[in-house]
Amino acid sequence: MIYLDYQATTPLAPEASGAMQPWIADKFANPHSPSREGREAAAAIEVARKQVREAIGLKNGTLAFTGSATEAINWAIKGTLENAGPGRNRIVTVQSEHAAVLDTCEWLEGGGAGVTCLPVDSDGLIGVDAVKAALDESVALVAVMLVNNEIGIIQPVAEIAKLAHEVGALMLCDAVQALGRVHIPQGPDLVAVSGHKVHGPKAIGALWIREGAEPAPLIHGGGQEQGMRSGTLSPALCVGFGAAAKLASEGFDRDRAHVERLWTAALDALGPGWIINGDTGQRYHGNLNIRRQGLDAARLISDLRELAFSLGSACASGSGRPSHVLRAIGLSDREARSSIRLGFGRYTSEDDLVAAIKQIDDAAKSQERFAA
Ligand code: PLP
Repeated sequence: MIYLDYQATTPLAPEASGAMQPWIADKFANPHSPSREGREAAAAIEVARKQVREAIGLKNGTLAFTGSATEAINWAIKGTLENAGPGRNRIVTVQSEHAAVLDTCEWLEGGGAGVTCLPVDSDGLIGVDAVKAALDESVALVAVMLVNNEIGIIQPVAEIAKLAHEVGALMLCDAVQALGRVHIPQGPDLVAVSGHKVHGPKAIGALWIREGAEPAPLIHGGGQEQGMRSGTLSPALCVGFGAAAKLASEGFDRDRAHVERLWTAALDALGPGWIINGDTGQRYHGNLNIRRQGLDAARLISDLRELAFSLGSACASGSGRPSHVLRAIGLSDREARSSIRLGFGRYTSEDDLVAAIKQIDDAAKSQERFAA
């Protein structure tokens, strides 16, 4: 199988898997217990916390582990709104955000919050002027992701954070697809990340929190994570995430150069008739989202059983609905359903990628012959 679905999840790094093993088997103490073993587990979690914080690379903040990035995003949005002063009851976000942001905003809107959801242009980019025009003193939070999970577009997060601060709002950046792939700029107050998108384990995420921007807790209970997020932490998951984050920091330039080579090879291998969805420059190049007129992308995916790639986003594929991001950049339903997403990275070989693209190209052409 050739795995080309790096935006859905990434292969667990052997180093992360190795680091987790003792904590899965023998070292089972509760990290919040005062026993010697418990303190050893707590110390391992603190090392992991530092490793994830360093991979994020922002100054003056703390990091709390969560059960997923989805939880971190829910917490950041709901907890910020909860803490906002009187008259601050509005969130500004963007149509191409992940469902974790959009559905949370929609739910809050049902409870009376104001939500302004800005459009993107046909390249997938947000106009900084449009953000500026949407901001006033009623805004509590601006939520904009750094790297889009469906089309890889990189948004001007630093400029947007500056604008948010000018009206006294906080800025949440969903950096799930950015960690280890592009540098996270200074500016955001809250940053959500996920273990499994950076060659770490699933079911662990984290929220980086700038000093003074702590959201009200979402999960109440035993007061873990300095009272910010209750629930017993999993040393295995934290340590695995930490090891993966360390690898991402240390191998950042190497991974980045590898992805650039893969992108160039992919474009060279792509036959005529394919159109790239989204801007190609302001983009993370480990994401190639392409369409072809008349293509039945769902059929292509099920026909090519030896390849793992995706239709828009994993979430959109599950629902059978066309991707909301592709619709947001102006594609018709039909064009969105003719689009596929190829995601590649650290463990993808150039030969595998080129072979996969040739198979995809051939299968698309045979669909066309069959339809003619
Ligand atoms: N945000 C983005 C951009 C994502 O791609 C994902 C995962 O698909 C998430 C948030 C949610 O991450 P998790 O799987 O850790 O809940």
